[in-house]
Amino acid sequence: MTFKEFNFKTNLQKSIDDAGFKEPSPIQQDAIPVILKGKDIVGQAHTGTGKTAAFGLPVLNMMKCNKEVETVVIVPTRELAMQVSDELFKFGKNLNINTATVYGGQSYSRQLKHISNASVLIATPGRFLDLLRGKKIEIKPNFVILDEADEMLDMGFLDDIKEIFTYMPENRQTLMFSATMPSAIKQLAKNILNEPEFITITKSEITNSKIKQSFYVVDEYERDDALLRLYDYKNPEKSIIFCRTKKEVDRLSTFLVSQGFSAKGLHGDMEQRQREEAINAFKKGRLEVLIATDVAARGLDVNDVTHVFNYHLPFDSESYVHRIGRTGRAGKDGMAVSIVTPHEFRMLQKIQKTTGGKLEAKTIPNIKSVK
Ligand code: ADP
Ligand code: MG
Repeated sequence: MTFKEFNFKTNLQKSIDDAGFKEPSPIQQDAIPVILKGKDIVGQAHTGTGKTAAFGLPVLNMMKCNKEVETVVIVPTRELAMQVSDELFKFGKNLNINTATVYGGQSYSRQLKHISNASVLIATPGRFLDLLRGKKIEIKPNFVILDEADEMLDMGFLDDIKEIFTYMPENRQTLMFSATMPSAIKQLAKNILNEPEFITITKSEITNSKIKQSFYVVDEYERDDALLRLYDYKNPEKSIIFCRTKKEVDRLSTFLVSQGFSAKGLHGDMEQRQREEAINAFKKGRLEVLIATDVAARGLDVNDVTHVFNYHLPFDSESYVHRIGRTGRAGKDGMAVSIVTPHEFRMLQKIQKTTGGKLEAKTIPNIKSVK
C-alpha cells in the first residue's frame, strides 16, 4: 500500500514524498481512512510506529487553512510539543499551515503572538488550561487530538484534560492516541469522545518488530561489570540505558563517564535546559549513551538508537515495551538487552508473556551465570 491511495491534496502528498515516507505504517493504514471519514478514534500502537503522521496527515488534509486555530494537539511534555510541531510543520508547510507551541516556562506574550498566526496549536495541558481559564485565547478548533494519552494520565493531567474539554466546541472531531490502553484511558475516551472507533495494533505486531531481545542473568553485585562487558562486545553506536530511579541515573552516568564513555543522564529533576542539551547532543551524535528514567525517555523520537539496555527491568511490562520501542524505529534493526538478577524473575516472566517469549537467555563470558 502507498500514501497515494488516501488521495491527499497534491501539496500534502508532495511533503510526504519530500519526507521520504513511502509506505504507511500499520496504525497509519488503519487510522487514516477512519479519520478522513470524520469519526472519533482511539488509536493504540507502540512507540515509534508513526502515530504523529497517523493523525497529522488526515487532519492537515481536512483543514481549511484559514488563519484561525483549527487544530489543537495536546501532548504531555515540552519536548514532545516541539517534536510534534516539527513533524506537522514538515507536512503542513506546502499547505501554508503554521504551527505554534504552548508550554510552561515560556513567556505568555511570546506564545500568544505565535498563536495569533498559527492554525495548529500544540500544547501541554497545564499551560493550555491557564490560557483558556484566563480567557487569553478563545478558540473553536474543529480537531482536538490527545497524543501520548497514557503518559499524560501517568503524569497526573487527567483533571486538567477534562477541564480543557469544557472549553472545546461540541461539534469537533476528537482523536486520542496512546501506546498502551489501561482502563483509565478507555474511561476518558468514553467521557470526551463521540462514539469512537478503537484501532489497535496488536501485541503480535510488537513482537514481529525488528528488535532482537535478550537477557543476561547475573548477581546483584555484578550489574556494573556486566554492563561494561556488554558494551565491550556489542559495541553499540548509539544507546539508551534505562534505570528505575533518578538516583541510579546520576550514579550510573558518573560511573560511565569515569570509564571513558560520552554519556549523560536524563531525568525529571534536571533543569529543562540541561535536558534539552542532553537530548540534542544525543540526536546529533555528540553523545553515545543516554541514561534515563522511563518518564524522561518516553516518546523521545531519536531514529537511530542501535541498542536499548535495561540496567534493571522496569516495574511493569508496558514500560518494557515502551523502553525497547526506543530502538528498531522507522524500519531499522535494533537490540534490546536486559540485565536481570534472580530477584527480577517474576517480572521477567510477565515480560515474556507480554512479548510472546521474545527474550532470549544469553550468558556473558567470564561472568558466572546465575541459575
Ligand atoms: P510514535 O508517535 O508512534 O511513537 P512517531 O510519530 O514519533 O511515532 O514516528 C516515529 C518516527 O518514524 C518519526 O521519525 C517519523 O518521522 C517516522 N515515520 C512515521 N511514519 C513513517 C512512514 N510511514 N515511513 C517512514 N517513516 C515514518
Ligand atoms: Mg508519538
